[in-house]
Amino acid sequence: MKVTIIYDNETWQPGLEAAWGFSCLVEANGQRLLFDTGGRGAILLQNLETLNLDPQSISEIFISHDHWDHLGGLADLLRLNRDVRVYLPRSCSRPPEAREVISVQGPLEISENFFSTGELPGAEQSLVVKTEKGLAVICGCSHPGVGAILAAASAFGEVKALVGGLHGFKEYEVLADLALICPCHCTQHQAEIMARYPETAVTGGAGKVLEVS
Ligand SMILES: [Zn+2]
Ligand SMILES: [Zn+2]
Repeated sequence: MKVTIIYDNETWQPGLEAAWGFSCLVEANGQRLLFDTGGRGAILLQNLETLNLDPQSISEIFISHDHWDHLGGLADLLRLNRDVRVYLPRSCSRPPEAREVISVQGPLEISENFFSTGELPGAEQSLVVKTEKGLAVICGCSHPGVGAILAAASAFGEVKALVGGLHGFKEYEVLADLALICPCHCTQHQAEIMARYPETAVTGGAGKVLEVS
């Protein structure tokens, strides 16, 4: 499975625009799921184009939580692809442009490879992706807390990778068993995570591609 960061506070690849927010494309078994949509539709669509990723090829959109920097680009994307299925946490209001919305409350199987932790306290869901080497967890801002997210994801198997915004997270020892950590977006203590896990932690940024298989 492959994760391409489309929208982030920083850029990794020249030519892409950085802005506060998060979005990444997750590909597994030929299925393309867009996790969150960043803050501004124009930047999301521009970065997708620069990365040669066709919005029409996305079959699912997964929104982590109801904050502007994660669903701000949703309406613009839906204008280009109305046939996409949108997975929203239950606390999120339904976007009028969407044809098919799945309101997520508890843990949910989306497909053979994709699962949701369900909406955790903190009004946020995280994506769980099954790979041959274990699970990869993609999170938006980690408002429920990284420990709670990893615990919920563990219901689906052994977590091996974590990608996304970790906010003010500081309980670094919960990352000890992971093979890949990509703390990006709103992560406040990225430098400490990188220093503590130099072999497994990597920086994010728009254009960064992570392969987990
Ligand atoms: Zn955020
Ligand atoms: Zn947030």
